[in-house]
Amino acid sequence: MKGFKLFRVLGIQISLNYTWFIVFGLIAWSLAFGYFPYHFPSLGRPAHWIMGFLGALFLFLSVLFHELTHSYIAKREGIEVREITLFIFGGVSQLAKEPEDPRKELKIAMGGPLSSLFLALIFWILSRMTSQAPDLLLVTGLLGYLAFINLSLAVFNLIPGFPLDGGRVLRAIYWKKTGSLRAATKIASDSGKWVGVGIILLGLFLILMGNLIGGFWFVIIGMFLRSAAEGGYQQAIMKGALEGVKVRELMSRGVISVPSSLRLDRLVEDYYLLHKHIAYPVTEGEKIVGLITLKRLKEISRDQWLQKTVGEVMMSLREEILLGPETEAVDALQKMIKSGEGRLPVVQEGRVVGMLTRRDILNLLEIKTDLTE
Ligand SMILES: [Zn+2]
Repeated sequence: MKGFKLFRVLGIQISLNYTWFIVFGLIAWSLAFGYFPYHFPSLGRPAHWIMGFLGALFLFLSVLFHELTHSYIAKREGIEVREITLFIFGGVSQLAKEPEDPRKELKIAMGGPLSSLFLALIFWILSRMTSQAPDLLLVTGLLGYLAFINLSLAVFNLIPGFPLDGGRVLRAIYWKKTGSLRAATKIASDSGKWVGVGIILLGLFLILMGNLIGGFWFVIIGMFLRSAAEGGYQQAIMKGALEGVKVRELMSRGVISVPSSLRLDRLVEDYYLLHKHIAYPVTEGEKIVGLITLKRLKEISRDQWLQKTVGEVMMSLREEILLGPETEAVDALQKMIKSGEGRLPVVQEGRVVGMLTRRDILNLLEIKTDLTE
């Protein structure tokens, strides 16, 4: 999941999905030009702008609060949370593993909507308090909107479609009933897909009835839910299959490394044409200093091959392209997806102890999911 790193809270990395920047602007704009002028026409244009901006900002903080509540409960239940990525209608808390039992799943899932309801109540009480003072109309309007939007967040997230919170609640219930996480995930995801279709149809109906903007939002939300249900199911299955598997169990040993002083023409002759790997670790003495990939090599024009050495064109060593023998297979796959490299070195105390390819992980996935189908 691509995201823009913001800050850390409770030891959890908070990231923004890139779509957020567009959506933030859209929300601020539609609040400043639509919602607030309609409800508070007596306030001027600058006030509407301030309210629009603050409304979008506090919506963002409300979503963050919702996700942090999930994460806080997960941590208390002994599940590590690595990252929270914030999206349009909510966020995704990346739990290091799936909850071990339905009771934990239920607790973690319910925490979010309850926290949104709590915020809605707080904002509503505050808006009642400020509504007595006519001077505070801007604040009252903003608080009223925040109460409404947090209530909406609670209701939206309670829709019984996985991976939304309501879908997780449904999954926990079926999980308890059937004893099979896999079957429960399937039911909750299918429910999510059908709810998504229902919302799309409702949106199309609204558009036909002449409510263009409202209908359009329903269609977008329905499509989002449908694809999330599909992706969430696959991800849950993948996580289940790879859970607890370490890089050292999958990597190939007996690694061929390339000395950094080697000239590129020799690299092509003696390595790329001889073996069939797309990437090699680069070493100086015993220690790894980088990674040479076919992609890198292709960026260098042929007439340079006689002058340049591997050390000059390799990818230098950084955390993003390194694996440890104890790295979880799920994380290794993440790193491959993020870096775009399909073959990464496994390093221990500066030395290469193995190489892992995307194929190694996918093979295991195929075998495991075939056997449990
Ligand atoms: Zn939630």
